[in-house]
Amino acid sequence: MTKQNHYLLLTPGPLTTTSTVKEAMLTDWCTWDQEYNGLVQQIRSELVALATAQAGDYTSVLMQGSGSFCVESVIGSVIPADGKLAVLVNGAYGARIAQMAGVLNVALNVLDFGETTQADAAQLEALLKQDEAITHVAVVHGETTTGMLNQIREIGEVAKRYGKTYIVDAMSTFGGIEMDVAELQIDFLISSSNKCIQGVPGFGFIIAKRDELEKCKGRARSLSLDLFDQWDTMERQNGKWRFTSPTHVVHAFYQAMQELAAEGGITKRQQRYENNHRLLVEGMERLGFRTLLPSELQSPIITSFYYPDSPAFSFDTFYQRIKQEGFVLYPGKITSAMTFRIGNIGDVHASDIERLLDAIERNRFWS
Ligand SMILES: *Cc1c(COP(=O)(O)O)cnc(C)c1O
Repeated sequence: MTKQNHYLLLTPGPLTTTSTVKEAMLTDWCTWDQEYNGLVQQIRSELVALATAQAGDYTSVLMQGSGSFCVESVIGSVIPADGKLAVLVNGAYGARIAQMAGVLNVALNVLDFGETTQADAAQLEALLKQDEAITHVAVVHGETTTGMLNQIREIGEVAKRYGKTYIVDAMSTFGGIEMDVAELQIDFLISSSNKCIQGVPGFGFIIAKRDELEKCKGRARSLSLDLFDQWDTMERQNGKWRFTSPTHVVHAFYQAMQELAAEGGITKRQQRYENNHRLLVEGMERLGFRTLLPSELQSPIITSFYYPDSPAFSFDTFYQRIKQEGFVLYPGKITSAMTFRIGNIGDVHASDIERLLDAIERNRFWS
C-alpha cells in the first residue's frame, strides 16, 4: 500500500482518483490568468458535449462548493418569486432539495415515495393537474441513499406535457450513466467534480438549457450562489469565475475529463461500473448478503446490502476490519432497515472488487 492510496474508497464521492489526477494539483494557478480561464472554457464546452448531442441549445456553469451548493444555487436562482416547486422524494437527497426550498422560501409541493419505491410519473401528473401553481419539477436521478435509479425520462415527459421547467440532480450518475439532456427534456442538470467524472471535491457544475437560464436574471436568493450571474460572468469574461475558484481542483478535473475520454467515454465507463456492480452483487450473494433493492430499480453506482441476520454482526467491527484490508465501505442511510452501502465508482476495477470479496470472505466474524 502506498501512502497515496492507503485505502480504496468504495463510497459515492469523494472517491478513489488516479495518481495522475492527484498530480495535476501540484501546480499553482492564478484564478484570473488567461491560460487558466481558457482551461475553464474548455471544461465548460466538453461538459456540454458529454451531456448532449444538441450542444447548441445548452450551456454549462461551474460553481464553487460541494454538490449541494450547486443544487441550492439552482433551486435559489431559477424559480421566480411567484413560482412553485414540486419535488419527487425517495431518499435523503430528494428530501434535501425540499429542505432547500423551505430555507429559501420557495413555494413547495412534495411527493414522497418512501425510501424503496421509484418516483412515479403518474403521481406527478395527478399532482400537476391538482396544483396549477407549480412551475418547476425536481427529482434525483440516482438516489445515493439507496442506489435507486429514478425514471427521469418518464418524469420529464410529464413535466414538459404540463409546461414545467425540469430540474434533475444527476450528481451521482452524470459521467457514469449515458444520458442526453435534450432527449430527456432536462432544463437544469446538476453534478459535481468528485463523482463519476472522477475528480476531487471542490466544485460542481450545472448543464442548463440556454434559453431557460437566460430567464433567471435577478431571481437569485443568494449573491454567491447566483447561477445566472456566475454564468453571465463566465460567458462575458471568457471563463472567469466571479470569486476565487478552486484552481487545483479545476486542474485535476480537466485531467479527469481527459482520462474519461481515454477510457472510451461514458459508454465504456458505464460498462466498467456495471461490471463492478455485477461482480459485487454476485460475490456478496455468494457470501450470504442480500441487496435492499431488486435489480430492476438498482443503479450500477452504489448498492445497499442488508446487515447479515446474525446478532454477532456489528457494522462498526465489520467496517474497521475491512478498512484494515484496504477498503472503506459506506454506512447505510435509510430508516426502514439496517443496511450498509458499497460504491463502485471511481478508479475501481474488477480486480479490486475481487480483492474486496476475498477480504469480506476472510472476515466473516458473525457466522
Ligand atoms: C453526492 C450527492 C449530492 C451532493 O452532496 P454533497 O455532499 O453536497 O457533495 C447531491 N445529490 C446526490 C444524489 C448525491 O449523490
